[in-house]
Order: sequence, then C-alpha cells, then structure tokens
Amino acid sequence: RAKSDITRAVCFYEPQMDKAAREHHALASDLSHALELGQLELHYQVQKSAQSGDVLGYEALLRWSHPSRGPISPAVFIPIAEETGLILAIGEWVLRTACRDAGKLGKPHKIAVNLSPVQFVHNDLAGLIRDILVETALSPSRLELEITESTFIADKARALHVLRQIKALGVKISIDDFGVGYSSFDTLRSFPFDKIKLDGSFTREMERNAQAMAIVRSVLALGQSLGIPVLAEGVETAAQLQILRVEGCHEAQGYYLGRPGPKENILPTAADQLQKVIPNRGTGLSVS
Ligand code: C2E
Ligand code: MG
Ligand code: MG
Ligand code: MG
Repeated sequence: RAKSDITRAVCFYEPQMDKAAREHHALASDLSHALELGQLELHYQVQKSAQSGDVLGYEALLRWSHPSRGPISPAVFIPIAEETGLILAIGEWVLRTACRDAGKLGKPHKIAVNLSPVQFVHNDLAGLIRDILVETALSPSRLELEITESTFIADKARALHVLRQIKALGVKISIDDFGVGYSSFDTLRSFPFDKIKLDGSFTREMERNAQAMAIVRSVLALGQSLGIPVLAEGVETAAQLQILRVEGCHEAQGYYLGRPGPKENILPTAADQLQKVIPNRGTGLSVS
C-alpha cells in the first residue's frame, strides 16, 4: 500500500517538478545576463529612530525587472543567484552601487546592504569591501552590512573571521531577521553585532498574539542589556509604531515609515542642489 502511494505521488508530482525545474533553469539563465542588461536596480527603504522619527539610514533592496515576466521578488531570485554563484558578481554590484548612491545623499545617512552567506566564500570579502569604500570615498562608519544566522551554518569559524576583518574596517554589522533563525542566542554570543533587526513577523503579530508581544519585549530587553540597538522590521501601522515606542524600541522600518523606492526618492533633487549653491537667498534680498 505504501509503495503504491509512493508510485502515485511520483506520477503526480513528476510533470509538475519537471516544469518547476525548467522554469528555475530559465530564470537562472536570464539572471546570468540581468546585470549586463541593466535589469537590476536598487531600491531604498528608510530606517528611522522609533523615538524621534529622525531618518537614520536606508536599506538597499535589490530589484529585478525581467523583460517578459516583469518584477521578480528577491525571495525568488536571490536563492537562484546563490545556487549559481551569480550572487558574487551581483553582490559586488550591490555593494558598489549602494556605496556610490550613499555618497550622493544630501546628509551623511547610513546605508544598509544585505550580504548573502555565499559571499563569505569569496577569498577576500573584507578586501573587496575596503576597495569599494576607497573607490566610492564613503566613510566606513556609514556602511552597515546585514547578515542572517544562515551565514554561520556552513563554516562558522570562517564567517566569524571574515566578520571581524570587516568590522576592523569600521563597518557596522547587523543581525537581520532576528528571532526566526536557529540558535539566535548563540549567534549573539559569538559576535559583537552593532544592531539587532527583529523580524517583521513579531511586529505583525504583537497586537493580537501575547507570545509575539512577549518576544518583542524580551528582545528589546536583550538589546538593552547587551547595549545593542534593536530595529523593528515590518512596521505597517501607527499603532504598531506607538507600541514599539512605548516599549523602548530604538529604530523602526516598514511600510508605515516608508516603502522601498528608487534612488531618486532619496537623492537630493535639482532644487535641493540649487538651495545649497544659494543658501540664504531670501535673507540676502531683504538685507539689500
Ligand atoms: P530583508 O533584508 O529582511 O528585507 C526586508 C524585506 O521586507 C524587504 O523585502 C522589504 O521590502 C520588506 N518590507 C519592508 N517593510 C515591510 C512592511 O512593512 N511589511 C512587509 N510585509 N514587508 C516589508 P524584499 O525587498 O522583497 O526583500 C526580501 C529579502 O531578499 C530581504 O529580506 C533580503 O533577505 C533579500 N534581499 C534583498 N535585496 C538583497 C540584496 O541586495 N542582497 C542579498 N543578499 N539579499 C537581498
Ligand atoms: Mg535586510
Ligand atoms: Mg529582515
Ligand atoms: Mg528577510
């Protein structure tokens, strides 16, 4: 009986899986040309102080406009980029583009860039980052790299070694999607992170789920004891921001504070530039 079930399952799933595999292969092939064809773009989402509302920085989020399929989610194409190794070239482009864009901001805001675990196998990730900082003349303290706990799965010792080299450059390191990975506490014990990014699922649930609320409070207390600021991801409503504020959360990011958008949204406009060239135009006129 078990055997016939298995046979049936195989017969049922095989054409489906075949189609999925073909699809996957086609996407991987298209992705290998996406960079040179200019189909990749960075969008930026604001990160604010939860208490004052001040802008602290922006997270770079990769976007792929496929010529026939339209926009494809990073949740779909990042894993393909990782499997194929394309993430090395793409990740380098992301770092360089984000650092270059950061240099054009009107104010010295921080720029946060997501790093894939696969980028840690690069022979010299820290050297690459250092070169990009020099090339783009960006102060290392303005760059923040977001990593997830999956970075430690393959080779923890190596990942920690590379992270220490990166940190020695003066670059900040955040732990992303905190609370939904494995061995979160062990991760925090292993490395002096500069920021904890609490996964958006807790923010989303905390109003209707007592467990989620308890976890939000615990992580905020943990950040407090360790002296690490906590950023709540996925803030979608004023009510959520208010709760986080009352609970003493340091930073927030989410659709309520600002959706990810093209760089034009965050770079100074031509009018801003003019304002800089002729700063006190009004005053000057009234004096004379
Ligand atoms: P992440 O780093 O945790 O980024 C946060 C994700 O949540 C982004 O999805 C963002 O658009 C989304 N988000 C922001 N605010 C809200 C909100 O209020 N509600 C909801 N429901 N979602 C919100 P996105 O852009 O689709 O990226 C998904 C993931 O793909 C990222 O998660 C990150 O892990 C990865 N990713 C994106 N860009 C890059 C990249 O340049 N390199 C690498 N390695 N990974 C990237
Ligand atoms: Mg992130
Ligand atoms: Mg996240
Ligand atoms: Mg995520």
